[in-house]
Amino acid sequence: RNRVYILGCGIDIVDSRLALKKAEELILRGIPSQVITLNAEIAYAASLDDRLRQVINEADLVTPDGIGIVWAARHKGYDIKERVTGIDMVYNLCQLAANKGYRVFLLGASPGVAEKAACELKKMYPYLIICGTRDGYFREEEKEEVIKSIREARPHILLVALGAPKQEFFISRHKEELGVPLCLGVGGSFDVIAG
Ligand code: UDP
Repeated sequence: RNRVYILGCGIDIVDSRLALKKAEELILRGIPSQVITLNAEIAYAASLDDRLRQVINEADLVTPDGIGIVWAARHKGYDIKERVTGIDMVYNLCQLAANKGYRVFLLGASPGVAEKAACELKKMYPYLIICGTRDGYFREEEKEEVIKSIREARPHILLVALGAPKQEFFISRHKEELGVPLCLGVGGSFDVIAG
């Protein structure tokens, strides 16, 4: 695995195309996996938080999200062509999913936003199958029910928009129960897509 370490966080040397290829390998492998798009803010937070750093270093794919990360990697002699952001990954994964018939579940953002984002994504990729949506403001007591509803929808791809690093902890903690091959934290992406 070709990685550069910045503030103790391993980041894969990938551009958008390679990130998508690796994401598809994880989907086809079928074992629950975690993808993180890492920006400098979160890398800095991780340098002060062992648990967060561990989550990042155990992730199956970590993309360079943000010019700060790209510069730091270049400074260390790694040629990173471009940043690979959460929203890039959402669009690229939805296009892939539409082509291959992979099911996508959207979890997170304020009530109504994930549905609106799903609707916009369906307009962009008519063959896309969104197998469920759920807002990101469930209570602790509701968490098990949320996890169960995701598991029962059997997505190949779970997009989690709870903000970083909450989404990263959520995925790391629950990916086995969720049983989803590819789980990705996408920050404020649903708000952007919903418009
Ligand atoms: N959010 C959520 N549940 C929470 C906290 C946040 O669903 O308990 C959502 C929020 O509505 C927004 C996203 O998470 O859609 C966070 O967006 P932000 O741009 O703040 O995150 P970042 O991109 O900085 O990770």
